[in-house]
Amino acid sequence: MAKIINVGVLTSGGDAPGMNAAIRAVTRMAIYHGLKVYGIRHGYHGMIHDQIREIKSHHVSNIIQRGGTILKTARSDEFRTVEGRAKAYENLKRNNIDALVVIGGDGSLTGARLLSEEHDIPCVGVPGTIDNDLYGTDYTIGYDTAINTAMEAVDKIRDTASAHNRLFFVEVMGRDAGFIALRTGIASGAEAILIPERETPSDKLKIFLEEGFKRKKTSGIIIVAEGEKEGGAYEIANKVAEDFKEYDVKVTVLGHIQRGGSPSAYDRVTASQLGAAAIDALLDDQKSVMVGIVNKKIVHVPFNKTIKSRKPINEDLLELAEILSI
Ligand code: ATP
Repeated sequence: MAKIINVGVLTSGGDAPGMNAAIRAVTRMAIYHGLKVYGIRHGYHGMIHDQIREIKSHHVSNIIQRGGTILKTARSDEFRTVEGRAKAYENLKRNNIDALVVIGGDGSLTGARLLSEEHDIPCVGVPGTIDNDLYGTDYTIGYDTAINTAMEAVDKIRDTASAHNRLFFVEVMGRDAGFIALRTGIASGAEAILIPERETPSDKLKIFLEEGFKRKKTSGIIIVAEGEKEGGAYEIANKVAEDFKEYDVKVTVLGHIQRGGSPSAYDRVTASQLGAAAIDALLDDQKSVMVGIVNKKIVHVPFNKTIKSRKPINEDLLELAEILSI
């Protein structure tokens, strides 16, 4: 592989707290190894439209504690086409960029895989998504902050639920995966957790409400992942309200507060490790891999594997949540 001199870095897809810490680590690790770093603004959209500028060490000062991403992020339909990616590659060449670090989720890594297959550019991915739904890594950047934000919100909702004897359905993010719901549910002592990975809802929820809940509790919290198969929190709450007229049923959708805010210590440290590992991987002639963390150790997972495999939900945690909610 040709020697790497100039590395491009971008954030893509949904923003996640800790992306800035990752940009900082990529930048400083690259500079430490004598490389130049180019920031690509607005993800693949900016790659196609040549929004590319050199980043120096001081440009990433004072950002480790900030949510969002200083490089901005975007979704680009043009990049999904062969022509769009060819245009993007031309801009990389014009700027003499010879390797790429892509910080983002599943879709962003799919884009990186196609770009490096179609053109001669090594790409390394850094898992950046609050959903934690990437196969091959225990944690993705932003997940820890998102579950802490959701947990704090649920704590507040519980106060009012208990004061009024209400049953709250709280919807958290997770279109395809229940990772945020499961951990938030356990951390906040939820009475039930509804996630897309499980064929639960109505019947099981009814039994739970009739047999267990009614006898012992006067208020409660049910966490619903937005991608839950029977619909979001509103749909499920409506069904329950019809069947259980005695409950005062309320719904809260947490929404985008889960994406924002200053990253947790865990996310900052993980992002720093993964950002640095991405540069190490490129210098080690790796391409088309995502860097991840498994059992606290850095791993390299081929793009194909992480994109095609589905990360399993932790069944032990799910069972624990059910036992502890009796
Ligand atoms: P999040 O998990 O936070 O949603 P993501 O990276 O999965 O993040 P997407 O919107 O799926 O977010 O993807 C981000 C961008 O990656 C897309 O806007 C598109 O430019 C590119 N991308 C996604 N899927 C593909 C694909 N199949 N082919 C080419 N590019 C893709």
